[in-house]
Amino acid sequence: MPTGERPLPALDDPVTRPFWEACRRRELTLQRCRGCDRLRFYPAPLCPHCHKGEADWARLSGRGSLASFVIVHPPVLPAFAACVPFAVALVELEEDARIRLLGNLLDCEPREIAIGLRVQVSLQEVGDVTLPQWRPLR
Ligand SMILES: [Zn+2]
Repeated sequence: MPTGERPLPALDDPVTRPFWEACRRRELTLQRCRGCDRLRFYPAPLCPHCHKGEADWARLSGRGSLASFVIVHPPVLPAFAACVPFAVALVELEEDARIRLLGNLLDCEPREIAIGLRVQVSLQEVGDVTLPQWRPLR
């Protein structure tokens, strides 16, 4: 990765590719295990709960609540220098609060940020990847 280039997820992994393809279609999806019916994150070839391999991709609401956050200040990697300060959210999904996704928290004043804040996914194109990020649910 050249200095100054934003690090992005690899799109060539067959296990995670359906997740990124769904993001590109503006859908947030996760694997749902056919063995135990639990959602699975991160995408994996086997269920961490029942160890079965079969899974379907379930479309989610894209809603959740803020479990934790951090406000990022300098120093940062050169690729993020123009973005600071920014908020990174750890979001508990509405469908299963045990599953938490990370992403930037957009369009939110620092004084609005609080644990439990209801958020909605916002799928943002960054280079060749569409990243799940978050906005307050209004
Ligand atoms: Zn399972």
